[in-house]
Amino acid sequence: MNHEKSENLYKKALEFMPAGVNSPVRAFKNVGMSPIFIERAEGSKIYDADGNKYIDYVCSWGPCILGHAYPTVIESVKKACESGLTFGACHKGEIELAELIKKHFPAMEMLRLVNSGTEAVMSAVRASRGYTHRDKIVKFEGCYHGHSDGLLVKGGSGLLTNSIPDSAGVPEGYTKNTLLAKYNNTESVEKLFEKYGNEIACIVVEPCSANMGVVPPQENFLKFLRDITKKYNSLLIFDEVITGFRLGIGGASEYYGVKPDLITLGKIVGGGMPLAVYGGKREIMECVAPLGSVYQAGTLSGNPVAVSAGIATIKTLESNPEIYSGLERKSAMLESAMKSAGLNVNRAGSLITVFFNDEKVTDYDTAKKSDTKRYAEYFSYLLENNIYTAPSQFEAMFVSDAHTDEDIEYTCEVIKKFR
Ligand SMILES: *Cc1c(COP(=O)(O)O)cnc(C)c1O
Repeated sequence: MNHEKSENLYKKALEFMPAGVNSPVRAFKNVGMSPIFIERAEGSKIYDADGNKYIDYVCSWGPCILGHAYPTVIESVKKACESGLTFGACHKGEIELAELIKKHFPAMEMLRLVNSGTEAVMSAVRASRGYTHRDKIVKFEGCYHGHSDGLLVKGGSGLLTNSIPDSAGVPEGYTKNTLLAKYNNTESVEKLFEKYGNEIACIVVEPCSANMGVVPPQENFLKFLRDITKKYNSLLIFDEVITGFRLGIGGASEYYGVKPDLITLGKIVGGGMPLAVYGGKREIMECVAPLGSVYQAGTLSGNPVAVSAGIATIKTLESNPEIYSGLERKSAMLESAMKSAGLNVNRAGSLITVFFNDEKVTDYDTAKKSDTKRYAEYFSYLLENNIYTAPSQFEAMFVSDAHTDEDIEYTCEVIKKFR
C-alpha cells in the first residue's frame, strides 16, 4: 500500500503544528507510523491522499453513527449555511434541538449548547460546584473528560497511551480538588466519601468507559454511584459524550437504567459538527448565568449550522429505530470473529476494544497491562487490509449504520486471519 502523498503532507504539517496534528492521537505515535491524510469520506469508507480506500471504524471518534456524509445531514447543513453561518443571537433551531435532546434524555430538564465535549464537562462540573457550594470532585482513573485543567488527572485516551499521568502546565492547585477512584471498584469510592463526603460536589464518570479502551460498568456499579451521591447530597454527572445516542437513542442512562443529575453530550449530538451539550435538573441549571451565578458563555454556542446537523442526525435516529438493532447485530458479528481469533474483547453495543492481555479488562490497571506493541501489529495488519481502526490501544472501535453486511463479513474474515 502506497502512503507517499500522506507522508509528504505529514512532513509539511510538522512545520506548522506540534507533531503535525491538531489532536494527539492522530499522530499515530503509538503504532509507530506516520499518519494517513484523509481526502474524503462517504458512508462507511474513507479515502486517503494516495487514493487508498478503507472501511472506517474510527468514525471521527464517534460522531458518524450514520456513516460519513449522510445525505439528509449534508442537505440540512447546506441549507443552514445559506442563511448565514453564525448569528451570535437566539434562533429557532436551538429550541428544536433542545426539545429533541430532552425527549430522549429526560434527566436533562434544562440544557446549554456548547462547542466541544471538553467545554461541556468543564461547565457541568462548574455548575455542580456552584449548586452544591462544594469544591471537590471524584473522577475515575482511565476516564477521559476532555482537556480542562481540573480533569487532566489520570485521564484515558491520548494521555493513557502516552503515559502522561498528568499534563505539564497544570498548576498543582488546579487538581488538588480532583479525587481519584478506581473504575468498577465501589470500595475506592466509599473510602473517598467516608473521608471527604461533605466536601464532594460531584462524581463525574463515563457510564461506559471508552477512553481506556472499552470498559463497561459492572453490574450495579452505576446504581452504587447513584446511591452514594444521594446519600452525601453530591451530584452524579454522566459524561455521555461518547455513549449519548450511541448505546441507544437514550444513551447510557437509558441503557443501564440509571438517572444522573447532570449529563454531558458531544460527538453524535453534533452530527459531525462542533457541538456539545450539558444539562440536567432544572434547579441545578438555574444556577447558570445570567439566571444564576455560575458563569458560562460562548460566542459560537448554538451555532445554526452545527445545530442543523445535530437535528438532522437525531431525527434520522429517531425515525429509524432499527438502526440500533442493526448496530448490535453487526457489532456482535465482529465480537464473535475476534473471539474466534482468540482475541480478548470488550464490547458494549457498537463500542468494541480488543486488548492484548490474558485477563479480563475491568479498569485502568488491567487496561494498562495490554501489550501495546501487539496492538500496533494488529492495527497495521488491519490497515494493510484496508480497515481503518484507532491508531491506539486505548480507544474504541465504532460501528456505524453505514457499515454494510459485506463490510462486516470482510472485516471478520480479515480479523480471523490475524496471527
Ligand atoms: C471525546 C470525549 C470528551 C471530549 O470531547 P471533545 O469534543 O474532544 O472536547 C469528553 N468526554 C468523553 C467521554 C469523550 O469521549
